[in-house]
Amino acid sequence: MHTWMHALLKCVSCGSSDLESGPGIRCRACGSEYPLNNNVPLMLPPASYIDVVDSISQQYLGVDKESINVAVGSALRYRVNDRVLRGEFQNIADRYIPAGVSGNSTPGNNNNSAVLICEYFNPLFRPQESSYRSFRIRNNSTFAYASSGNQPFHISYMLYNMDGSLASEGPRSRLPIPVEPGMELTVPVRIDAPHTAGEFRISVMLVQEHVKWHSEHPIFEGKIQVGTGSKFRERLLEPPHKGYFDFDEDLNQCSSFIKNVFSEIPSSTSQPLNVLELACGSDPQMIRHFQKNTRVTAVDLCYPQIQLASLKYNVSQPADCENFAFICADAFHAPFRDHQFDVVAISAALHHFVDLTQALIVMRRLLKPEGRIILLREPGKVAADDPTYIEELSNGFNEQQFELEEYEVMFERAGLKVANHQLDFECSYKASLMPVEP
Ligand SMILES: [Zn+2]
Repeated sequence: MHTWMHALLKCVSCGSSDLESGPGIRCRACGSEYPLNNNVPLMLPPASYIDVVDSISQQYLGVDKESINVAVGSALRYRVNDRVLRGEFQNIADRYIPAGVSGNSTPGNNNNSAVLICEYFNPLFRPQESSYRSFRIRNNSTFAYASSGNQPFHISYMLYNMDGSLASEGPRSRLPIPVEPGMELTVPVRIDAPHTAGEFRISVMLVQEHVKWHSEHPIFEGKIQVGTGSKFRERLLEPPHKGYFDFDEDLNQCSSFIKNVFSEIPSSTSQPLNVLELACGSDPQMIRHFQKNTRVTAVDLCYPQIQLASLKYNVSQPADCENFAFICADAFHAPFRDHQFDVVAISAALHHFVDLTQALIVMRRLLKPEGRIILLREPGKVAADDPTYIEELSNGFNEQQFELEEYEVMFERAGLKVANHQLDFECSYKASLMPVEP
């Protein structure tokens, strides 16, 4: 591990930065140990995960751990095509988790209600504007909300004049997939603003077709203001692109966007800039588009993916790899002391977090006061019927889409403001952000 990397780290169990390197990383203060595989540390609190190899070796006394490790690894390495067989073939981790350790569960209730988990409700609309606002709900009932069939659940709203009289009923927005009891889902809800300017009260709720409006348990209540609308797009750059989304052209735009941001950061000393990329998967953009005189720490929660990133970029960019570090960690328990990074970046991943405002608050905490947060390739428009979006949700990914006006709300709540932002192909959003109060 690079010494510069070591100097940025802290223990995720006790917060101490008194760490020693050996076969792994060990906290001298609390004794927590963090293993290394392919030279990538697993910086998760030891109590937060189970090492299946340890668990099996306790049951298979006398079998060497390395052989068990190879057997477990092959569950990831080979993939069975048949979906049903795949579950059987690959669930080795689940089979060896000791009794008493399980995932979260939420008790249901009988009032049929959906509970609001989070929203980024921007109340500003222009007359007749049609836009989306997303509501993340949890099904707190004891039955599933169907998304199709004879009596599907939708989300809609009632709009009231300020004197309490009904102004209009909203259109129905479908649930992209069914919502099982205890499950959470972010649902984009279409809002059609009235023809006339003014202030209205909005009450958002479940509607079960041919059954009822769940008006006694609204998901969200607030005000909307119909007038000049949000000013958020005034300084938005929209480069001219011909035709549909072009992945390579979008990467080129990322490259020039990153260069521009770095040109704005004051670098008063000869020290390289510290760059952090969170949730980078196996392709950290800050390494792909590496800037001279920077040091990049790439972080992902998926241990195989971040090891692959390390293996790949140490081979493909050997001249710069002294300036790359790869760490497996949870962004919400990031193993770094506060305010150490000149740039904190995230690409095509912020929208997978449960609560984007909270994720941005974490990023701001890791950032130096005069630094920049960079968002790349986040969804900048809701396409509620997009088949890829629905397929990813069906496969268990926390897929979400947002309108730019919802990012405006997230940034404001996280104490951030836009330095520059750009929308490519009407959907790929890029932004550089700075703290409102440095
Ligand atoms: Zn510790």
